[in-house]
Amino acid sequence: MKKYSVFSIAKEAFNGDQGWEKAWKKNEPKAEYDVLIVGAGGHGLATAYYLAKNYNITNVAILEKGWLGGGNTGRNTTIIRSNYLQESSIGIYEKARSLYESMSQDLNFNIMFSPRGVLMLCQTEHELRAMKRTEQANRLYKVDTKMVTPDEVKEIVPIININGPRFPVLGGLWQPRGGTARHDAVAWGLARKCSSLGIDIIEQCEVTGVKSSQGKISGLDTSRGPIKAKKVCFVVAGHSSVLANLAGFRLPIESVPLQALVSEPIKPMIDCVVMANTVHGYLSQSDKGELVIGGGTDGYNCYSQRGSFSHVEETVRALVETFPVISRLKQLRQWGGIADVTGDRSPIISKTPIGGLYINCGWGTGGFKAIPGSGWATAEMIKEDNPGSLAAPFSLDRFVEGRLIDESVAAAVAH
Ligand SMILES: Cc1cc2nc3c(=O)[nH]c(=O)nc-3n(C[C@H](O)[C@H](O)[C@H](O)COP(=O)(O)OP(=O)(O)OC[C@H]3O[C@@H](n4cnc5c(N)ncnc54)[C@H](O)[C@@H]3O)c2cc1C
Repeated sequence: MKKYSVFSIAKEAFNGDQGWEKAWKKNEPKAEYDVLIVGAGGHGLATAYYLAKNYNITNVAILEKGWLGGGNTGRNTTIIRSNYLQESSIGIYEKARSLYESMSQDLNFNIMFSPRGVLMLCQTEHELRAMKRTEQANRLYKVDTKMVTPDEVKEIVPIININGPRFPVLGGLWQPRGGTARHDAVAWGLARKCSSLGIDIIEQCEVTGVKSSQGKISGLDTSRGPIKAKKVCFVVAGHSSVLANLAGFRLPIESVPLQALVSEPIKPMIDCVVMANTVHGYLSQSDKGELVIGGGTDGYNCYSQRGSFSHVEETVRALVETFPVISRLKQLRQWGGIADVTGDRSPIISKTPIGGLYINCGWGTGGFKAIPGSGWATAEMIKEDNPGSLAAPFSLDRFVEGRLIDESVAAAVAH
């Protein structure tokens, strides 16, 4: 595929932009592949990419029932951070964050990674204690975070009201190399690279059945016909339980809506990401000037990818207390995605009861930040038929053995 560079842009400028190829090919399904990945979200695409890049496995198809990046990958609020509490989480999220740093160069696609800093506010004594503990854990595993005082919070975010009536700001956990990236670009850049490496991307192809014999996977039924493969990986986020059901096993996952909204575009007013976990809201500003706002999950299981008025009211009411300056902004859009949430708020990267069938899910409300690390670890598991050191702690066995990776504190407003 043609390299994106200053020279190719200049050349195309003289050529009336007629020479650009499609970013990725639309493939017809073949009868058989070495590996089938179900779900063309960030995690599925990254898994396919690292299968090709790290192991030279390219006879791979990615099957997507809708459009590429149309699931949670294209619906999230793009926060990237790695300030988690447990060793195994820090391992995979920090791997991902560091891969994000060079992803634009690696993919030859500008994913607009912006390490603008992520600030997690402490607005209760309990939260202050919890974040100090997280800071110590981060230090132990060499993740660059530090506690900041209320005055330092005010310096980092001048628009904040640190003397709020109910929840004054008592401090914050600051990760200077956390930030954001353009979520669509992550999906598109990975898709373009996968396509150029010979991987088939097949959209409008819903998996409707799972074929196995003698306890081993043999292929999938899809809306575009049966496809054979000896290795299959489900990477379908909110629909993981649906796919597991087709394969005949159950997952410890709840699917819940998670909503977000953006304001009308305004001049730059905040140059980092702020998460206010006590009141359940978070805020950043996009390059277009919109304030990107999100909150907690809806309180019920559901598969409808929609927003609701009550949720917007709740989230904005919470934020206005700490950011009174946003109170008169108009809302531009709202939307929802379906998050796949586990009991310990940690993901699942695992083999399944069916040989050759693997699963990557449970990223819940916070998997965008993990995309490259997760793809890296899942590709390794598929190649070796065993999880490597990054993925091993996240196996399904942990729920049977009581080896939970409790991230309910560091998961924050859960992003
Ligand atoms: C509103 C919102 C805000 C968020 N904010 C953040 C954030 O700030 N930071 C962060 O780190 N994370 C955030 N997240 C979470 C993050 O978006 C997800 O964890 C991540 O995108 C999951 O990626 P994925 O590739 O696993 O799933 P998805 O992107 O959902 O992809 C799964 C794909 O599988 C496809 N699929 C489903 N069933 C089938 C089938 N039967 N056959 C074929 N294909 C199928 C779907 O169509 C979908 O495209 C947020 C999520 C939401 C909804």
